Amino acid sequence: MAASHKLASFRLPPLPTVGELIKLYNLRAEKQLSQNFLLDLKLTDKIVRQAGNLRGAHVCEVGPGPGGLTRSILNAGVADLLVVEKDSRFIPGLKLLSEAAPGKLRIVHGDILTYRMDRAFSGKISKQWDEDPPNLHIIGNLPFSVSTPLIIKWLEHVANKTGPFSYGRTQLTLTFQKEVAERLTASTGSRQRSRLSVMSQYLSTVHSCFTIPGRAFVPKPEVDVGVVHFTPLVQPQIQQPFKLVEKVVRNVFQFRRKHFYKGLEKLFPEASRVELTQEIIQRADIDPTLRSTQLTIPQFRALCDAYAHLCSQDSNLINYEYREELREINQERRKSKQLGRNKKT
Ligand code: SAM
Repeated sequence: MAASHKLASFRLPPLPTVGELIKLYNLRAEKQLSQNFLLDLKLTDKIVRQAGNLRGAHVCEVGPGPGGLTRSILNAGVADLLVVEKDSRFIPGLKLLSEAAPGKLRIVHGDILTYRMDRAFSGKISKQWDEDPPNLHIIGNLPFSVSTPLIIKWLEHVANKTGPFSYGRTQLTLTFQKEVAERLTASTGSRQRSRLSVMSQYLSTVHSCFTIPGRAFVPKPEVDVGVVHFTPLVQPQIQQPFKLVEKVVRNVFQFRRKHFYKGLEKLFPEASRVELTQEIIQRADIDPTLRSTQLTIPQFRALCDAYAHLCSQDSNLINYEYREELREINQERRKSKQLGRNKKT
């Protein structure tokens, strides 16, 4: 009881403001790294609240930079905060924070895209997949160029229960360019419905929290930013390997404005394209005149199951890639054109 009271009542001692720290360590935002800082602690507190009650929680913050969000996470009474920052210029400022919160803040100078989070926390915090989520949260305000590849990578980890999800259904609270946030949460039939919507929603409950206007950042980015919360589902809505689902969804969304079968048929080599496209549509029992944006997740499940069935009948099918075939055809064309020119000269 005394320990939990201590956790709940933890507040950072008076420190230089984030703005003063930026000046002190001369932390100019690097444009190439798309660094946009949040200096308003009311706003960073609001982001942290979206993660839920963090009292006694274990948290990984990605890209702490000058540490605004980091301060809010510490003030939420967490037991343990691990930060992963790529840019070494921020490490001294983070060390200052670490001294102000003894035993609470671990600093890793590294790249979140390659960092092994499955080794970062004690196995004691793990929960079984079908239990409530573990008291482990990932929070981050990352550059847009990193947050999209990162969420795809983490969704694959969700599917395989690896990386941050080796502890159970770890929850994520992350920022994205507003347009990407809208795609992640878009429902069937909406204009923003895309590959990202299906990939994120078949594996997790995705919830759009709020929008941060671009003017809240220093320097101000061109676009607004959306805060998105993810909780992995106990049972994925599609029970096929991630790579297979990704391939089907990517192909179906290839021609957004046309009937979805136009993209779907590119799953099959030319020789058997018409026949196998008919078979997959029949097996999945879907109206072929629908557009990709109109398909529901159960319909994607039916397509993935039907495609898996066809792959089980022809082991070469899963490795077939239309784009590779197209590249080879184009290369051949270029070569024969060049040969023709050489003959003329
Ligand atoms: N969290 C801070 C805030 O809200 O003010 C900084 C946000 S800034 C948009 C993104 C931060 O992520 C920067 O500190 C940048 O150096 C860091 N970063 C960029 N790519 C990273 C990566 N691959 N791994 C870890 N940190 C990264």
